[in-house]
Amino acid sequence: MYLDLNLRLTDAQEALKEEVHRFAQEVLRPAGQEIDRLDPAEALREGSLWWDCKKKMREMGFHLTFIPEDLGGSGLGPIEHHIIWEELGWGSVGLALSQDVDVYPAAWLVRMSPGNQRLIEDLVKPYVRDTEARIIGCWGITEPDHGSDTLMAGTPQFRDPAISHTVRARQDGDTWVITGQKSAWISNGPVATHALLFVGIDSSKGMAGGGIAVVPLDLPGVSKGPVLRKLGQLDLPQGELFFHNVRIPKEYMLVGPDRYEFWVQQVLSVANCGMASLFTGVARAALEFALTYAKDRVQGGKRICEHQLIQKKLFDMFVRVETARAYSRVAVEYCFTAIPAPIEYAVGAKVYCTEVAFQNAHEAVQIYGGYGLSREFPVEKLLRDARAALIEDGCSEVLSLIGASGLLRNYIP
Ligand SMILES: Cc1cc2nc3c(=O)[nH]c(=O)nc-3n(C[C@H](O)[C@H](O)[C@H](O)COP(=O)(O)OP(=O)(O)OC[C@H]3O[C@@H](n4cnc5c(N)ncnc54)[C@H](O)[C@@H]3O)c2cc1C
Repeated sequence: MYLDLNLRLTDAQEALKEEVHRFAQEVLRPAGQEIDRLDPAEALREGSLWWDCKKKMREMGFHLTFIPEDLGGSGLGPIEHHIIWEELGWGSVGLALSQDVDVYPAAWLVRMSPGNQRLIEDLVKPYVRDTEARIIGCWGITEPDHGSDTLMAGTPQFRDPAISHTVRARQDGDTWVITGQKSAWISNGPVATHALLFVGIDSSKGMAGGGIAVVPLDLPGVSKGPVLRKLGQLDLPQGELFFHNVRIPKEYMLVGPDRYEFWVQQVLSVANCGMASLFTGVARAALEFALTYAKDRVQGGKRICEHQLIQKKLFDMFVRVETARAYSRVAVEYCFTAIPAPIEYAVGAKVYCTEVAFQNAHEAVQIYGGYGLSREFPVEKLLRDARAALIEDGCSEVLSLIGASGLLRNYIP
């Protein structure tokens, strides 16, 4: 493991880092590499390695990190979250992301609807106790016709009445009725039992007229599409969710149009901070593979790390890892404590760290030469995994526009 330039980590934080790193090295990385070679649907068969990993992550208590302590969560702070995300991302980022979104319905409902006893009993308490990965969460915001549109909270586009959700909810007495389709990009979609679902309620407000609900996915009217085939992150299962007149109790609608835009920004902030930390781990993995290989491979009669051009590439990769870690760590710390945190910090960290991960994975492949392209070596997986991150949780371009909008709003000359 390469050093972590943070001289303020406590002994407990150092111990946590070591423990999670060991898990990432012994469990996640070998599993991620093996699952990467499988058909995505085959990887999810009962008793598979994917399920084995999922259960092991539960046993480690990673599902408790974002749940408040008084509800059985582990009560970890932002630095601990960053440490866990970086190490899991270093191991295999698809499995790490599956764990990350898993907690969304239970963890966000206690923030969006504090004291919602019905959902605390129905979902949070069973989820906290679940060490078998029987309850799995996902967040559904993207639709086949609305990707970036769903995320642009804080920009004028978000309030344009001509643009609104196609998954819609209407109130009917003590229930809400939901109809429509979420896209094939829903992470954990094929295995999830509960969704944190973003729906349209008042289309006169455009995307801002939405609502956020917890939807159990075993309700009548819910169906799922096939497991998505894609480039990279093959250990993160994804697929469509369909809703046909699905009825949920009124307590399951957590947020209405009055607070929707605020909560989209909050969720995007935390999600982007998570992505920034996870992909710092991917950038570090690429650096470490490249360093190891360059110290071993001989060309021109010497180890390639003795060629100055390779040294320059390795040094640039190192600087990118350190800056990504420093930026993502303070972004996590800030966004977890300042509510609302200015969105530009979170999206900035996500855009920066995912691009760093992609650059480092690209350089690692180059340093490996032809072997870098071979599936027998680990770095082409990193390149595919990192490429997806430039689109996931918001395309870099669109997140930059959201960040610019925050910057212009919050900067007072
Ligand atoms: C690996 C992965 C995991 C994901 N997980 C989830 C998940 O768990 N849940 C979920 O709901 N979604 C998920 N997504 C979906 C993801 O959030 C969307 O793919 C993303 O927001 C982009 O939407 P889109 O793919 O529809 O692209 P589009 O929005 O169609 O964008 C296409 C292109 O147009 C550009 N563009 C779009 N709008 C503008 C604009 N206003 N100004 C300038 N340029 C613009 C974009 O930058 C992009 O280059 C995931 C995606 C990936 C790849």
